[in-house]
Amino acid sequence: MSASCRFQVADFVAARSAISTAVRHTPVVPSANLGAHAGVPVHLKLEHLQDTGSFKLRGATNAVAKLDHEARRRGIVGVSTGNHGRALAFAAKQAGVSCTICMSRLVPENKVAAIRDLGAEILITGNSQDEAQIEADRLVAEKGLVLLPPFDNRDVICGQGTLGLEILEDVPDVGTVLVPLSGGGLISGVAAAIKATKPSVKVIGISMERGPAMIASLKAGCPVQVTEEPSLADSLGGGIGLDNRFTFQMTRDLVDEVVLVSEAEIAAGIRHAYWQEKQIIEGAAAVGIAALISWKVRSDASIVAVLSGGNIDMKLHHRITSGEDVDLTAEGDA
Ligand SMILES: *Cc1c(COP(=O)(O)O)cnc(C)c1O
Repeated sequence: MSASCRFQVADFVAARSAISTAVRHTPVVPSANLGAHAGVPVHLKLEHLQDTGSFKLRGATNAVAKLDHEARRRGIVGVSTGNHGRALAFAAKQAGVSCTICMSRLVPENKVAAIRDLGAEILITGNSQDEAQIEADRLVAEKGLVLLPPFDNRDVICGQGTLGLEILEDVPDVGTVLVPLSGGGLISGVAAAIKATKPSVKVIGISMERGPAMIASLKAGCPVQVTEEPSLADSLGGGIGLDNRFTFQMTRDLVDEVVLVSEAEIAAGIRHAYWQEKQIIEGAAAVGIAALISWKVRSDASIVAVLSGGNIDMKLHHRITSGEDVDLTAEGDA
């Protein structure tokens, strides 16, 4: 049976009630000038205003809520220096569960501090994400901690899908939803939740040209590895896992179209969000606006673009919004 058949509206409704006290129902606002540009109403789902600055809190909170008594007692572990790590730390703290985040020695101190400040225990080990993963696996084997992955997990997908339910409620005439795409947890949940209720809604996934692991995998017909490259959409980096269980199949079966955007287009998306919409968003969150501005997506009915997160280095944001042509490859600091 295909992975997508195993998710029903009831699963997302249950996740929604499980996370309702800890996770915000974020606002949706119309964008007059993107609407004029696209020729149909355009709405922005302001998920960067979520606690911890991204939608990852939905999946993390649901996964923590689903732990049994014994697992809660032992605690959770994750491997992430970014939005997933923040979300796990915050969700665990709210639930009174201990949380360990494993990171490599190369992670910059500001990223370490952001997660430590949310109450997680930080375990610094090795020189790469892979070595941090090995340490996490050891904690699972030796101490019985529960590893919560960023996207390829049933409870995480159900949590992310709650965002889709909010879109249907707040924009009942939605025709097309634009979703940033990396490992595919967000788009799998959103597409499954929306299509189970209203199959006519189109769901479009958008990745950056630099290292789009899911789109390369869809083309290959199975999960493949891609070389990681620095990108303004850093939260979209990384692979989908060669042993992917859910999100590859779900993205393949439920997503109507995938689109790639360039670094210059992502920068234009960040600029547009700031100057026209007065929103501070990170590169990963700007890909929907980027695709709209560059005419890479079309729809004859209302569009909702998901602004998935706001965790961007503010110095980098300032440079981009001041008009500088930032090329992270040349800087090698991504
Ligand atoms: C993780 C993340 C994404 C991509 O989500 P996937 O579930 O991996 O596809 C998009 N935007 C932001 C801000 C993220 O943190």
